[in-house]
Order: sequence, then structure tokens, then C-alpha cells
Amino acid sequence: MSEPTIKSVRVLTVMGNFEWPIVKVELSNGLIGYGECHRGPGIREILRRAEELIKGREVNIEYLLRLIRKHVPNSEWGVVNNAISGLETALWDVKGKLTGLPIYELLGGKVRDRVPVYADLHAGAGIMETGGKRWVELAGTEVAYNVENYIKRAREAMGMGFKYIKFDVDVPEEMMETEFDRTFGMRIVKFMTSFIGGVRDAVKYDVDIMIDGHWAFSVPTAIAIARELAKYDVFWFEDPVPPENIDAMREVRLKSPVPIATGEKLYRLSQFRELIEKEAADIIHPDVQRLGGLLEMKKIAYLAEEYYVPVAIHNISSPIGTMANAHVASAIGDFIAIEWHAIDLPWWPDMVREGMIIKDGYITPPKKPGLGVELNERVAIEHARDQGEVKEFLG
Ligand code: MG
Repeated sequence: MSEPTIKSVRVLTVMGNFEWPIVKVELSNGLIGYGECHRGPGIREILRRAEELIKGREVNIEYLLRLIRKHVPNSEWGVVNNAISGLETALWDVKGKLTGLPIYELLGGKVRDRVPVYADLHAGAGIMETGGKRWVELAGTEVAYNVENYIKRAREAMGMGFKYIKFDVDVPEEMMETEFDRTFGMRIVKFMTSFIGGVRDAVKYDVDIMIDGHWAFSVPTAIAIARELAKYDVFWFEDPVPPENIDAMREVRLKSPVPIATGEKLYRLSQFRELIEKEAADIIHPDVQRLGGLLEMKKIAYLAEEYYVPVAIHNISSPIGTMANAHVASAIGDFIAIEWHAIDLPWWPDMVREGMIIKDGYITPPKKPGLGVELNERVAIEHARDQGEVKEFLG
């Protein structure tokens, strides 16, 4: 009997709190696998090109990835890798179903049964990138920058069992001269960090607190913020300065009294190589749905390990991408936690038939073949960005 081959590659963009491009691979024997890409322009077109290259071939993932990277233009870095990442997970999902093994086994086995998850609590109110004002409704208030909100959100996440929580320190636009400002004095630095002080006073040391700077600051402002954050013992300060200049990141890292985490905008081992070799981050924080896939994540983790740099995973995905992250994270030695961004999105768990995959602040990758969760197509289609895609997705 001949091996099954790839019949089609489809994508459906679901409007969650972010856009979630869900990839579906179907084999000639009817087996179906799912994956998820980090959002970005042109993903459907890139996957169409990839489909032309891999259609009719067996599921030899190493070979297929090399084929796509060789023949799809601009695959070294950038959005082509967002598309490849989702496709690669879908290929692992079908490979698992073909062999009867969970993805973590195919990646070499696991070192932990359950993977910690941290709750991203934004700025005391939710972020609903795809839904305009909805985040305000969900947060139950229009005032995001309010210490009571921060504390309320912290307690909510702690009540769900999370041992790590993360807040933003984005400067409100009304405090800026232009939206492009990066340099602020102590008036604004103290204002932004005071919320974190409020949370620390309220929660004591029952939870670890991380802070996201969203690349918003210049080097001196980032260092000033880091010094304030040190008073509240934050676990990490993420993306203090823009990602392109690794030397600037390193300068912040060397002068910051709190650990610096970064990496969610970087692609491939090749970009992480500079970050890790220059020792510009205390913690790397890659996005697996963007950087090039699960195998690429493992390679990056091995390099980081040589420098004693721990890994945490940036994640804005649906449960499909989140579970893929849990499989690879279960196989990484010094791993901290996977991000969860959807505390404000009540239907996030419904995207898979298994329901809520995060329990008491952990994900346990299932022993079932492949990802171990199945897309709930009805829910995905209900929130689809465009109906043309739905028809194609259903095939
Ligand atoms: Mg971030």
C-alpha cells in the first residue's frame, strides 16, 4: 500500500481577539491536520504557493520545509515564515495521526508533563484588536489606567490558578506629544510604573509579575523604567526598545536591574543567533506561529541552552496554536511559561472540541496522536473574516 500524500492546504482567518489564520492540511486518505499562523498580510497567497510545491508528496516534514524555503521567495525571514509555521504544525498533526504519536513524541520526547501558562492582562483592560470597542465592554470600565483595575485583573487571573501575570506599561496617547515618542521623563515613568507598585502591594509574592514595553522606549527611558520596576521585583521587562538593533537591546540589558525578555518579532534561528550570541536578552520570548515552526523553535532552544538562557513563548493564538506551543514547550529544558492572551474572550475554549485546554495555569499536551485537539469548525466558521475563505476551507 502506498503512503498517503498531501491533497490540499487551506486557510481560514478567524476573528478572535486577534486574527487567527488556521491552516488545514488534507491527505489523500482523508486524514486532516490543523495548525495556526501568526497574523500577517499575504498568508493565503503564500500558502497557495506552498501547496503547489507539496501537493502529491508524502509527509516528510524536513524535506517539505526545505522545498518550500528554497522555492518561495523571501522565505529567509518575514511573513513567509508566519505561513510556514502554521503549515508545519498542520503537517505535524497529520504525521502524528499517521503514526499514532503525539507531536511531542515526534519532536524527540518531553521533559515535562504539564507546561505553565501566564496570563497577559494588558493594561488593566482587555485588548480586542479585531473588535473595536468590545474590550471596553468586557473590562466593564472605560478607564484602563486605574490601579483598582490592575489589581482586580491580577486577582481574577490568580483565582484561575495562574502563577505568572503580565501587564503593559504603554504610555497613554493623551500623555504623548505624538504617537511616535519614545523618550519620557520621570513624571511619566513614575506614573506608568506606579500601577505595578499597586499590584505588588495587593498580591504580595503570591504571583510573579512580568511587564511588556511593546518596543515603545528609547534606551535611556527603558533603563529608567527598568530601575523603577526593580522596586517591585518584576520577573521580566519585555521588549523595552525596538527589536531591530540588538546592540541597543544589549545596552538596556546590561544596565537593567531586572531581567530583559525579547524575541517575539524575530524569525528563524538565524535572527535568534545574534540575540543569543550577543547576550542581549536574559530570557528569549519567541513566537512559534511566526518564527518558522516547531522544529525551528527546538533549534533556537538548543542554542539558548548553550548560553544558559531560558525560554518563554509569546502567544496570541487560538487553542490550536497554543496547543502546538505546549507540545514544543514540553520538550524544552529551561522553560518558563507560554503566554495566554484571551482572558477576555469567552469563546476562546470553544475553538476546539475538547474545550478549555488551560487548567489551573497549566496545559498538559494530550497523549492522543498529533496535536491532540480538533478544531471546532462550526465555531471557526462563525467567526470567519470572509465567507469566500469559508467555502474554500470546507473544500
Ligand atoms: Mg509582548
